Amino acid sequence: MRRKKYYYDTRTCNYEKIKTSKWDIFFDALGFLALSFVVAIGIFWGYITYFDSPKEIQLKEENALLQLHYERIQQEIDKSGRVLAYLQDQDDNLYRTILETEPIPAAVRKAGVGGTNRYQELTNKSVLIATTLKKADQLKRELYIQSKSYDELTKLAKAKERMLACIPAIQPISNKGLKRISDPFGMRLHPIHRIPTMHTGIDFAAPKGTPIYATGNGTIKLAKKNFGGYGNQVVIDHGYGLFTLYGHMKEFKVKAGQRIKRGECIGYVGSTGISTAPHLHYEVIKNKKRVNPAHYFTSELNAAEYEMILALASRKIYATPEGRK
Ligand SMILES: [Zn+2]
Repeated sequence: MRRKKYYYDTRTCNYEKIKTSKWDIFFDALGFLALSFVVAIGIFWGYITYFDSPKEIQLKEENALLQLHYERIQQEIDKSGRVLAYLQDQDDNLYRTILETEPIPAAVRKAGVGGTNRYQELTNKSVLIATTLKKADQLKRELYIQSKSYDELTKLAKAKERMLACIPAIQPISNKGLKRISDPFGMRLHPIHRIPTMHTGIDFAAPKGTPIYATGNGTIKLAKKNFGGYGNQVVIDHGYGLFTLYGHMKEFKVKAGQRIKRGECIGYVGSTGISTAPHLHYEVIKNKKRVNPAHYFTSELNAAEYEMILALASRKIYATPEGRK
């Protein structure tokens, strides 16, 4: 029940009832509602400022989890980067050294994305995502360069393998104990003409019929029968400006133009041409110059044997007919 209100009228000296109009009631109600609204807004603002809604709590948890995942991804990218750095180091300092080629410049390896920062827009929104993508991109580019480098190394290694297989790196006859060298490379007194002449190869003394082997891969350039000079002889073209000559052969079993592999038998020791006893005269010709074949005997010898054969195959002292130096 609505309470009645009075006021004291000094004119009549009585308490008079206050008359309340409908408008008064309306404005009172309106004021109350406005105040309530302001208070409600205040409470709501306080709540949303200092307390999270369940949805926000869930989103924050998801956010923290995502952040953790991104950090883990970054760690994995960093780990892969370290593995790649090891491969790059091996590439530059081992493989490229062996294959005698220049290392890849660091500027090429670390080639950045270049130009404008493609992650600028993203950086403004999330530094974490932008840096993760940047790292992944950098890794991808470096991996691409590394894979290209491996392609190049494979080609170089194959070419090197081909070249190494062509070098006359073995002795033309079986020479265990290194006792077959009968006449080294260098100036000597000719065994028949008795005048000082250059011996342009190495002589290997061996019984007639001893097999003679191609000393490196190549193509038979010449296989001819001859009664003078080196007698029956074979010349192999190894490529790279290298040729080998095999003289005084009893017979040969190859013909010009034939492809030959290192270690294949090309014929047999004889004493044809100008020769006093069965032996193989063996020459290595490099860029049209006759060189000491012993310098190439690297394939089947250990260091000590190589030193020994080099000494045996090189004439250090020129002996005169009187035996003086
Ligand atoms: Zn000779």
